[in-house]
Amino acid sequence: MIVVEDLVKNYGSFQAVKGINLKVEDGQIVGLLGPNGAGKSTTMNIITGYISATSGSVEIDGYNIMAEPMKAKSRIGYLPEIPPLYMDMTVLSYLKFVAEIKGVVKKERLAEVKRVMKITKITDRAQRMISKLSKGYRQRVGLAAALLGNPPILILDEPTVGLDPSQVVEIRELIRSLAHEHTVILSSHILSEVSEVCDHIIIINNGTVVAEDTPENLSRKYSNQSHVAMEIKGDKESIGEVLDSIDYIESYEFGASEDGVQEVNLLLTTDEDRNDDLFYLFAGKKMPVRKVSRESLSLEEVFLKLTGEEKPQKEEDVDVEAEDAEGTETVEETESVETAEDNKEDNDKEEE
Ligand code: ATP
Repeated sequence: MIVVEDLVKNYGSFQAVKGINLKVEDGQIVGLLGPNGAGKSTTMNIITGYISATSGSVEIDGYNIMAEPMKAKSRIGYLPEIPPLYMDMTVLSYLKFVAEIKGVVKKERLAEVKRVMKITKITDRAQRMISKLSKGYRQRVGLAAALLGNPPILILDEPTVGLDPSQVVEIRELIRSLAHEHTVILSSHILSEVSEVCDHIIIINNGTVVAEDTPENLSRKYSNQSHVAMEIKGDKESIGEVLDSIDYIESYEFGASEDGVQEVNLLLTTDEDRNDDLFYLFAGKKMPVRKVSRESLSLEEVFLKLTGEEKPQKEEDVDVEAEDAEGTETVEETESVETAEDNKEDNDKEEE
Protein backbone atom coordinates (compact mmCIF):
# COMPACT_ATOMS: atom_id res chain seq x y z
CA MET A 1 0.00 0.00 0.00
CA ILE A 2 1.17 3.53 -0.77
CA VAL A 3 0.22 6.32 1.58
CA VAL A 4 1.13 9.91 0.71
CA GLU A 5 0.30 12.58 3.23
CA ASP A 6 0.35 16.36 2.86
CA LEU A 7 3.03 16.27 0.19
CA VAL A 8 4.54 19.64 -0.66
CA LYS A 9 7.34 20.41 -3.11
CA ASN A 10 8.77 23.86 -3.59
CA TYR A 11 11.18 24.70 -6.38
CA GLY A 12 12.57 27.94 -5.02
CA SER A 13 9.59 30.21 -4.55
CA PHE A 14 7.41 28.10 -6.87
CA GLN A 15 5.19 25.48 -5.25
CA ALA A 16 4.80 22.59 -7.69
CA VAL A 17 2.99 20.25 -5.27
CA LYS A 18 0.64 21.81 -2.75
CA GLY A 19 -0.34 19.30 -0.11
CA ILE A 20 -1.22 16.11 -2.00
CA ASN A 21 -2.78 13.15 -0.14
CA LEU A 22 -3.05 9.75 -1.83
CA LYS A 23 -3.81 6.22 -0.76
CA VAL A 24 -3.23 3.37 -3.19
CA GLU A 25 -4.40 -0.06 -2.10
CA ASP A 26 -2.60 -3.27 -3.07
CA GLY A 27 -3.60 -4.50 -6.51
CA GLN A 28 -5.08 -1.22 -7.69
CA ILE A 29 -4.19 0.42 -11.01
CA VAL A 30 -4.29 4.10 -10.28
CA GLY A 31 -3.98 6.82 -12.91
CA LEU A 32 -2.57 10.22 -12.08
CA LEU A 33 -4.20 12.42 -14.65
CA GLY A 34 -3.34 16.04 -15.22
CA PRO A 35 -2.26 18.52 -17.84
CA ASN A 36 1.40 19.32 -18.50
CA GLY A 37 2.94 20.92 -15.46
CA ALA A 38 0.24 19.69 -13.06
CA GLY A 39 2.81 18.10 -10.76
CA LYS A 40 2.54 14.43 -11.77
CA SER A 41 6.24 13.79 -12.38
CA THR A 42 7.21 15.72 -9.27
CA THR A 43 4.81 13.59 -7.19
CA MET A 44 6.09 10.36 -8.75
CA ASN A 45 9.71 11.40 -8.31
CA ILE A 46 9.05 11.95 -4.61
CA ILE A 47 7.12 8.70 -4.17
CA THR A 48 10.00 6.77 -5.76
CA GLY A 49 12.64 8.59 -3.73
CA TYR A 50 14.25 10.27 -6.77
CA ILE A 51 13.82 13.69 -5.21
CA SER A 52 12.94 14.76 -1.70
CA ALA A 53 9.77 16.51 -0.64
CA THR A 54 9.76 19.93 0.98
CA SER A 55 7.33 18.50 3.54
CA GLY A 56 4.89 15.64 3.94
CA SER A 57 5.43 11.90 4.02
CA VAL A 58 5.43 8.88 1.71
CA GLU A 59 5.07 5.33 3.00
CA ILE A 60 5.59 2.33 0.78
CA ASP A 61 4.24 -0.85 2.36
CA GLY A 62 4.87 0.71 5.76
CA TYR A 63 8.40 1.99 4.98
CA ASN A 64 8.96 5.73 4.96
CA ILE A 65 10.79 6.71 1.77
CA MET A 66 12.99 9.20 3.63
CA ALA A 67 13.67 7.18 6.78
CA GLU A 68 14.09 3.75 5.16
CA PRO A 69 14.84 4.49 1.50
CA MET A 70 16.45 1.14 0.66
CA LYS A 71 13.55 -0.92 1.97
CA ALA A 72 10.95 1.41 0.45
CA LYS A 73 12.70 1.62 -2.95
CA SER A 74 13.16 -2.16 -3.16
CA ARG A 75 9.35 -2.46 -3.33
CA ILE A 76 9.14 -0.15 -6.38
CA GLY A 77 9.84 -0.52 -10.08
CA TYR A 78 10.00 2.93 -11.67
CA LEU A 79 9.72 3.89 -15.30
CA PRO A 80 10.55 7.60 -15.48
CA GLU A 81 9.14 9.72 -18.31
CA ILE A 82 12.49 9.45 -20.07
CA PRO A 83 13.96 6.04 -19.15
CA PRO A 84 17.66 6.35 -18.27
CA LEU A 85 18.97 3.93 -20.88
CA TYR A 86 22.58 3.50 -21.94
CA MET A 87 22.51 3.82 -25.70
CA ASP A 88 25.82 2.04 -26.28
CA MET A 89 24.79 -1.12 -24.47
CA THR A 90 22.84 -4.05 -25.84
CA VAL A 91 19.43 -4.74 -24.32
CA LEU A 92 20.76 -7.84 -22.59
CA SER A 93 23.87 -6.24 -21.12
CA TYR A 94 21.87 -3.20 -19.95
CA LEU A 95 19.25 -5.34 -18.21
CA LYS A 96 21.94 -7.51 -16.59
CA PHE A 97 23.58 -4.32 -15.36
CA VAL A 98 20.31 -2.98 -13.90
CA ALA A 99 19.59 -6.36 -12.29
CA GLU A 100 22.98 -6.20 -10.60
CA ILE A 101 22.33 -2.66 -9.31
CA LYS A 102 18.93 -3.76 -8.05
CA GLY A 103 20.61 -6.51 -6.04
CA VAL A 104 19.39 -9.55 -7.98
CA VAL A 105 21.84 -12.28 -6.96
CA LYS A 106 24.31 -13.34 -9.63
CA LYS A 107 23.09 -16.88 -10.16
CA GLU A 108 19.50 -15.70 -10.70
CA ARG A 109 20.37 -12.65 -12.81
CA LEU A 110 20.18 -14.16 -16.30
CA ALA A 111 16.93 -15.99 -15.57
CA GLU A 112 15.43 -12.79 -14.18
CA VAL A 113 16.51 -10.78 -17.24
CA LYS A 114 15.01 -13.45 -19.51
CA ARG A 115 11.76 -13.33 -17.50
CA VAL A 116 11.31 -9.58 -17.93
CA MET A 117 12.36 -9.66 -21.60
CA LYS A 118 9.67 -12.28 -22.18
CA ILE A 119 6.98 -10.25 -20.41
CA THR A 120 7.86 -7.10 -22.36
CA LYS A 121 8.33 -9.05 -25.62
CA ILE A 122 11.89 -7.93 -26.32
CA THR A 123 13.63 -11.31 -26.26
CA ASP A 124 14.29 -11.09 -30.00
CA ARG A 125 16.01 -7.71 -29.47
CA ALA A 126 18.30 -8.95 -26.68
CA GLN A 127 21.53 -8.52 -28.63
CA ARG A 128 20.57 -5.25 -30.26
CA MET A 129 22.17 -1.96 -29.26
CA ILE A 130 19.69 0.25 -27.44
CA SER A 131 20.64 3.16 -29.76
CA LYS A 132 19.29 1.07 -32.67
CA LEU A 133 15.87 0.52 -31.12
CA SER A 134 12.73 2.46 -31.94
CA LYS A 135 11.13 4.58 -29.25
CA GLY A 136 8.50 1.90 -28.57
CA TYR A 137 11.15 -0.75 -27.99
CA ARG A 138 13.18 1.60 -25.80
CA GLN A 139 10.06 2.12 -23.71
CA ARG A 140 9.75 -1.64 -23.35
CA VAL A 141 13.37 -1.89 -22.25
CA GLY A 142 12.64 0.79 -19.63
CA LEU A 143 9.62 -1.19 -18.50
CA ALA A 144 11.65 -4.41 -18.40
CA ALA A 145 14.21 -2.63 -16.21
CA ALA A 146 11.42 -1.49 -13.87
CA LEU A 147 10.18 -5.10 -13.61
CA LEU A 148 13.57 -6.54 -12.66
CA GLY A 149 13.52 -7.99 -9.16
CA ASN A 150 9.74 -8.35 -9.41
CA PRO A 151 8.83 -5.34 -7.25
CA PRO A 152 5.21 -5.39 -6.03
CA ILE A 153 4.67 -1.73 -6.99
CA LEU A 154 5.15 -0.25 -10.46
CA ILE A 155 5.26 3.49 -11.00
CA LEU A 156 5.09 4.49 -14.65
CA ASP A 157 5.44 8.11 -15.70
CA GLU A 158 3.66 8.81 -19.01
CA PRO A 159 4.43 5.29 -20.29
CA THR A 160 2.91 5.85 -23.74
CA VAL A 161 4.20 9.33 -24.56
CA GLY A 162 5.77 9.47 -28.00
CA LEU A 163 4.58 6.05 -29.12
CA ASP A 164 2.61 5.40 -32.27
CA PRO A 165 -0.99 4.15 -31.92
CA SER A 166 -0.18 0.44 -32.23
CA GLN A 167 2.66 0.73 -29.72
CA VAL A 168 0.30 2.59 -27.38
CA VAL A 169 -2.21 -0.26 -27.56
CA GLU A 170 0.52 -2.84 -26.87
CA ILE A 171 1.98 -0.97 -23.91
CA ARG A 172 -1.48 -0.43 -22.42
CA GLU A 173 -2.25 -4.13 -22.75
CA LEU A 174 1.07 -4.94 -21.17
CA ILE A 175 0.34 -2.65 -18.22
CA ARG A 176 -3.09 -4.19 -17.78
CA SER A 177 -1.58 -7.67 -17.75
CA LEU A 178 1.02 -6.60 -15.16
CA ALA A 179 -1.72 -5.32 -12.91
CA HIS A 180 -2.69 -8.86 -11.94
CA GLU A 181 0.45 -9.19 -9.88
CA HIS A 182 1.40 -5.59 -9.16
CA THR A 183 0.04 -2.38 -7.77
CA VAL A 184 0.41 0.19 -10.54
CA ILE A 185 0.46 3.97 -10.52
CA LEU A 186 0.73 5.53 -13.94
CA SER A 187 0.60 9.14 -15.00
CA SER A 188 -0.88 10.53 -18.16
CA HIS A 189 -2.33 13.70 -19.57
CA ILE A 190 -4.70 11.64 -21.73
CA LEU A 191 -8.09 11.11 -20.16
CA SER A 192 -9.01 8.16 -22.39
CA GLU A 193 -5.76 6.41 -21.51
CA VAL A 194 -6.29 6.43 -17.76
CA SER A 195 -9.96 5.59 -18.06
CA GLU A 196 -9.09 2.62 -20.26
CA VAL A 197 -6.28 1.22 -18.14
CA CYS A 198 -6.96 2.31 -14.55
CA ASP A 199 -9.56 1.30 -12.02
CA HIS A 200 -9.10 4.50 -10.07
CA ILE A 201 -8.29 8.00 -11.33
CA ILE A 202 -6.72 10.83 -9.37
CA ILE A 203 -6.92 14.15 -11.17
CA ILE A 204 -4.12 16.54 -10.35
CA ASN A 205 -4.20 20.13 -11.43
CA ASN A 206 -1.88 22.90 -10.42
CA GLY A 207 -0.20 20.82 -7.72
CA THR A 208 -3.37 19.64 -5.97
CA VAL A 209 -5.76 16.71 -6.23
CA VAL A 210 -8.97 18.11 -7.71
CA ALA A 211 -10.94 14.87 -7.97
CA GLU A 212 -10.59 11.14 -7.56
CA ASP A 213 -12.93 8.33 -8.36
CA THR A 214 -13.46 5.35 -10.59
CA PRO A 215 -13.45 6.14 -14.33
CA GLU A 216 -17.16 5.25 -14.50
CA ASN A 217 -18.09 7.70 -11.76
CA LEU A 218 -15.93 10.46 -13.21
CA SER A 219 -17.29 10.12 -16.72
CA ARG A 220 -20.86 9.96 -15.41
CA LYS A 221 -20.28 13.36 -13.90
CA TYR A 222 -19.54 15.04 -17.24
CA SER A 223 -20.77 12.74 -20.00
CA ASN A 224 -24.17 14.43 -20.22
CA GLN A 225 -22.63 17.65 -21.46
CA SER A 226 -21.20 19.01 -24.65
CA HIS A 227 -19.73 22.20 -26.00
CA VAL A 228 -20.78 24.17 -29.02
CA ALA A 229 -18.71 26.92 -30.60
CA MET A 230 -20.77 29.47 -32.54
CA GLU A 231 -20.21 32.59 -34.60
CA ILE A 232 -23.34 34.69 -34.88
CA LYS A 233 -23.91 38.01 -36.61
CA GLY A 234 -25.61 40.29 -34.10
CA ASP A 235 -25.04 42.25 -30.94
CA LYS A 236 -24.17 40.60 -27.64
CA GLU A 237 -27.38 41.66 -25.96
CA SER A 238 -29.71 40.15 -28.58
CA ILE A 239 -27.63 36.97 -28.80
CA GLY A 240 -27.67 36.72 -24.98
CA GLU A 241 -31.48 37.07 -24.93
CA VAL A 242 -31.87 34.11 -27.30
CA LEU A 243 -29.38 32.00 -25.39
CA ASP A 244 -31.01 32.81 -22.04
CA SER A 245 -34.30 31.44 -23.37
CA ILE A 246 -32.83 28.00 -24.25
CA ASP A 247 -33.29 25.49 -21.44
CA TYR A 248 -30.50 23.08 -22.49
CA ILE A 249 -27.79 25.74 -22.24
CA GLU A 250 -26.03 25.61 -18.90
CA SER A 251 -23.73 28.55 -19.52
CA TYR A 252 -22.19 30.58 -22.31
CA GLU A 253 -19.25 32.88 -22.78
CA PHE A 254 -18.62 35.50 -25.43
CA GLY A 255 -15.30 35.46 -27.27
CA ALA A 256 -13.90 37.84 -29.86
CA SER A 257 -16.08 39.96 -32.09
CA GLU A 258 -15.23 41.11 -35.62
CA ASP A 259 -17.29 42.96 -38.22
CA GLY A 260 -20.43 42.46 -36.16
CA VAL A 261 -19.84 38.69 -35.90
CA GLN A 262 -19.70 37.48 -32.32
CA GLU A 263 -17.96 34.33 -31.15
CA VAL A 264 -19.77 32.52 -28.36
CA ASN A 265 -19.02 29.24 -26.61
CA LEU A 266 -21.92 27.29 -25.16
CA LEU A 267 -21.97 24.56 -22.54
CA LEU A 268 -24.99 22.33 -23.13
CA THR A 269 -26.61 20.15 -20.49
CA THR A 270 -27.04 17.43 -23.09
CA ASP A 271 -24.66 15.50 -25.32
CA GLU A 272 -27.27 15.35 -28.10
CA ASP A 273 -26.59 17.25 -31.31
CA ARG A 274 -28.50 20.57 -31.16
CA ASN A 275 -26.69 22.31 -34.02
CA ASP A 276 -29.71 22.52 -36.33
CA ASP A 277 -31.95 23.74 -33.54
CA LEU A 278 -29.49 26.49 -32.62
CA PHE A 279 -29.05 27.48 -36.25
CA TYR A 280 -32.80 27.90 -36.87
CA LEU A 281 -33.40 29.70 -33.57
CA PHE A 282 -30.94 32.43 -34.50
CA ALA A 283 -31.93 32.49 -38.16
CA GLY A 284 -35.54 32.97 -37.04
CA LYS A 285 -34.44 36.07 -35.16
CA LYS A 286 -32.67 37.36 -38.28
CA MET A 287 -29.25 36.70 -36.78
CA PRO A 288 -27.16 34.80 -39.35
CA VAL A 289 -25.14 31.92 -37.95
CA ARG A 290 -21.67 31.79 -39.48
CA LYS A 291 -20.49 28.78 -37.54
CA VAL A 292 -21.97 26.16 -35.27
CA SER A 293 -19.77 23.24 -34.26
CA ARG A 294 -19.92 20.68 -31.50
CA GLU A 295 -16.78 20.09 -29.52
CA SER A 296 -16.01 17.53 -26.88
CA LEU A 297 -15.10 18.64 -23.38
CA SER A 298 -11.42 19.27 -22.96
CA LEU A 299 -9.46 17.98 -20.01
CA GLU A 300 -9.44 21.49 -18.60
CA GLU A 301 -13.22 21.64 -18.82
CA VAL A 302 -13.54 18.26 -17.17
CA PHE A 303 -11.42 19.61 -14.34
CA LEU A 304 -13.65 22.65 -14.05
CA LYS A 305 -16.76 20.51 -14.06
CA LEU A 306 -15.41 18.02 -11.55
CA THR A 307 -14.22 20.68 -9.17
CA GLY A 308 -17.47 22.62 -9.55
CA GLU A 309 -15.58 25.80 -10.36
CA GLU A 310 -16.81 28.50 -12.68
CA LYS A 311 -15.00 28.93 -15.95
CA PRO A 312 -12.12 31.29 -15.29
CA GLN A 313 -13.00 34.89 -16.06
CA LYS A 314 -9.84 36.63 -14.93
CA GLU A 315 -7.47 37.55 -17.69
CA GLU A 316 -4.52 35.73 -16.13
CA ASP A 317 -6.59 32.56 -15.67
CA VAL A 318 -7.59 32.61 -19.32
CA ASP A 319 -3.95 33.05 -20.29
CA VAL A 320 -2.94 30.08 -18.17
CA GLU A 321 -5.60 27.92 -19.76
CA ALA A 322 -4.54 28.95 -23.25
CA GLU A 323 -0.94 28.18 -22.35
CA ASP A 324 -1.85 24.72 -21.07
CA ALA A 325 -3.86 23.93 -24.18
CA GLU A 326 -0.94 25.11 -26.28
CA GLY A 327 1.44 22.96 -24.27
CA THR A 328 -0.69 19.86 -24.79
CA GLU A 329 -0.90 20.47 -28.52
CA THR A 330 2.82 21.00 -28.75
CA VAL A 331 3.43 17.70 -27.02
CA GLU A 332 1.08 15.90 -29.36
CA GLU A 333 2.60 17.55 -32.39
CA THR A 334 6.05 16.62 -31.17
CA GLU A 335 4.88 13.09 -30.54
CA SER A 336 3.60 12.61 -34.06
CA VAL A 337 6.75 14.07 -35.56
CA GLU A 338 8.89 11.82 -33.39
CA THR A 339 6.77 8.82 -34.21
CA ALA A 340 7.12 9.37 -37.92
CA GLU A 341 10.85 9.77 -37.56
CA ASP A 342 11.06 6.79 -35.27
CA ASN A 343 9.22 4.61 -37.70
CA LYS A 344 11.45 5.74 -40.51
CA GLU A 345 14.53 5.09 -38.40
CA ASP A 346 13.21 1.74 -37.35
CA ASN A 347 12.58 0.73 -40.93
CA ASP A 348 16.06 1.90 -41.87
CA LYS A 349 17.52 -0.10 -39.02
CA GLU A 350 15.51 -3.17 -39.86
CA GLU A 351 16.97 -2.96 -43.38
CA GLU A 352 20.55 -2.79 -42.08
P1 ATP B 1 4.32 16.92 -17.64
O1 ATP B 1 3.14 16.12 -18.06
O2 ATP B 1 4.58 18.09 -18.54
O3 ATP B 1 5.54 16.10 -17.35
P2 ATP B 1 3.81 17.11 -14.79
O4 ATP B 1 2.40 17.08 -14.35
O5 ATP B 1 4.58 15.87 -14.68
O6 ATP B 1 3.88 17.66 -16.26
P3 ATP B 1 5.90 18.32 -13.25
O7 ATP B 1 7.00 17.89 -14.17
O8 ATP B 1 5.76 17.63 -11.96
O9 ATP B 1 4.50 18.30 -13.99
O10 ATP B 1 6.08 19.87 -12.99
C1 ATP B 1 5.23 20.60 -12.13
C2 ATP B 1 5.66 22.04 -12.14
O11 ATP B 1 6.93 22.15 -11.50
C3 ATP B 1 5.83 22.61 -13.53
O12 ATP B 1 5.39 23.95 -13.49
C4 ATP B 1 7.32 22.55 -13.76
O13 ATP B 1 7.74 23.58 -14.61
C5 ATP B 1 7.87 22.75 -12.37
N1 ATP B 1 9.16 22.06 -12.17
C6 ATP B 1 9.40 20.75 -12.33
N2 ATP B 1 10.69 20.46 -12.06
C7 ATP B 1 11.27 21.63 -11.70
C8 ATP B 1 12.59 21.99 -11.29
N3 ATP B 1 13.56 21.10 -11.17
N4 ATP B 1 12.82 23.30 -11.02
C9 ATP B 1 11.83 24.23 -11.13
N5 ATP B 1 10.56 23.95 -11.49
C10 ATP B 1 10.28 22.67 -11.79
